[in-house]
Amino acid sequence: MRVAIVGAGMGGLALAVALQEAGIDYQIYERAPRPTEIGAGIHVAPNGVRLLTRLGLAGRLDEIGARPVAIESRRWQDGTVLGRTPLDAEFEQRYGRPYYVVHRIALHQELLRLVQPSRLHCDRTCVAVTDHGDGAEIRFADGTAVTADLVVGADGIRSVVRRAVLRDFPVYSGYVAFRGLVRAADAPFVFPEPRLVLWLGPERHVVSYPISADFINLVAVTPVSRWTHDAWSVPGDLDRLRHAYHGWDDSVRTLLGGLTAVTEWALYDQDPADSWGTGRVTLLGDAAHALLPFVAQGANMAFEDAVVLTACLRAAPENVPGALRRYEDLRRPRTARIQGEARANAVSFHLPDSPDQVARDSSGSGENVWRDRDRIFGYDAGAAIPSARSGTHA
Ligand SMILES: Cc1cc2nc3c(=O)[nH]c(=O)nc-3n(C[C@H](O)[C@H](O)[C@H](O)COP(=O)(O)OP(=O)(O)OC[C@H]3O[C@@H](n4cnc5c(N)ncnc54)[C@H](O)[C@@H]3O)c2cc1C
Repeated sequence: MRVAIVGAGMGGLALAVALQEAGIDYQIYERAPRPTEIGAGIHVAPNGVRLLTRLGLAGRLDEIGARPVAIESRRWQDGTVLGRTPLDAEFEQRYGRPYYVVHRIALHQELLRLVQPSRLHCDRTCVAVTDHGDGAEIRFADGTAVTADLVVGADGIRSVVRRAVLRDFPVYSGYVAFRGLVRAADAPFVFPEPRLVLWLGPERHVVSYPISADFINLVAVTPVSRWTHDAWSVPGDLDRLRHAYHGWDDSVRTLLGGLTAVTEWALYDQDPADSWGTGRVTLLGDAAHALLPFVAQGANMAFEDAVVLTACLRAAPENVPGALRRYEDLRRPRTARIQGEARANAVSFHLPDSPDQVARDSSGSGENVWRDRDRIFGYDAGAAIPSARSGTHA
């Protein structure tokens, strides 16, 4: 069986590594001249850590990432703690793995290291995909084409593969995320231990966490009614950003003051789709299920997709269309549930000061960025089909 993967982001690389481990032939096609990631942080939750560990990153996350002691939500104006989730030994015991925060470039590099270089083809922009029934074809911008037994679109939120097989696309959510790194030395952090902090305020929220001894990752989510740029991200305006958080907690102001550059990302959302492909074409990661980043699970879902797709192909190598539909049937309910959690947070994180906000803060639900933590973190994608390892089901 020959698998052609479009896109060497977190999801495409995780799939390549999983296929390689399963002894399934693959090639991966990436439009960038070199595989790259953005300079920002990423949460890797226990459900993702479990898979990355099995895929060959055991021990590496400790090297490249940080383990925060807690996740805290705080009030926008004065930093009052609204909720706290300790990421302690009890948490680790409950979910079987720790919670990490990592620099995206470092994690991407680790996955890349596990992929056979001869199987990665850069500077290959997919422009079309055709399902021929007995195989599938990818055409590239340079006029070349390849065929394979199946094609996986892991080409992100603006997926060309998705356009080839489905009719619905992600829509702009009305929010942008400003992302940047602050030198720890430039913004002496008010909290002595590394922790993940969310400041919740009217229409906006801010997330910060250290990703190394030297850098603090900062994400500031702000409403912007229309996205007028062609690109998914553009250089951000620091003055505009700082102005948007006027009157916020001093720690937020200090962090924003420490930024020297910032990127502004349009945030997209999408209703769960009934299908992710056709006979020999399927989707994975953001291409399959664009997700607001308010549960920090997008890449974790892509890792899960990769493991489940590999298990389905391994279980039914003689029936590719059947394996792909089984993969989609297994993954759609779970990713739809996570999409729903992210949407719910889009409302609850951004409540104006009001009786609803008071109720949110006093109920302690501010602690629960994830309403259904056990289901999210306790899930073992490797056990999603019987041929894989045993564990918790969605
Ligand atoms: C502000 C923000 C914070 C986030 N924080 C987290 C977090 O903490 N934890 C988490 O799990 N997730 C987080 N996410 C989500 C996460 O970043 C995505 O879900 C994840 O990167 C998706 O991976 P992917 O491989 O599906 O797509 P991508 O990472 O977008 O990779 C797609 C790849 O395909 C390539 N490509 C695109 N088009 C073509 C083409 N036509 N031909 C060939 N190649 C192509 C691209 O160059 C790229 O390499 C966050 C997202 C945002 C916006």
